[in-house]
Amino acid sequence: MSDPMGTTRPVSITLDKQARVLRIGWADNHQSAYDIDALREACPCASCRGGHEFMGEAHDPDLLELKPLKHYEVEHLEISGNYALHISWDDGHDAGFYTWDYLRRISPD
Ligand SMILES: [Zn+2]
Repeated sequence: MSDPMGTTRPVSITLDKQARVLRIGWADNHQSAYDIDALREACPCASCRGGHEFMGEAHDPDLLELKPLKHYEVEHLEISGNYALHISWDDGHDAGFYTWDYLRRISPD
């Protein structure tokens, strides 16, 4: 979806390593908190998506339904091209570009 008003745009991104949560504050004042482990398992890249039973069509995972079997750590976070968050994980995976639209769609609140 296009976003002419620019509301699907973060104004703050905070990685809370203690709580193991990524917090995003959006331009429309909405606040999102993503469980780090669930966020790793919700990686939108082709190889992660292809490994799920619901491959193919854009099927958004429900972060609250994901039951990660292990803990992951964020090695590096960077904003990519003003449209996505690029996350590098401690398991070596760094192919995930979490677009603002995607993050907003899977926001667990
Ligand atoms: Zn991935």
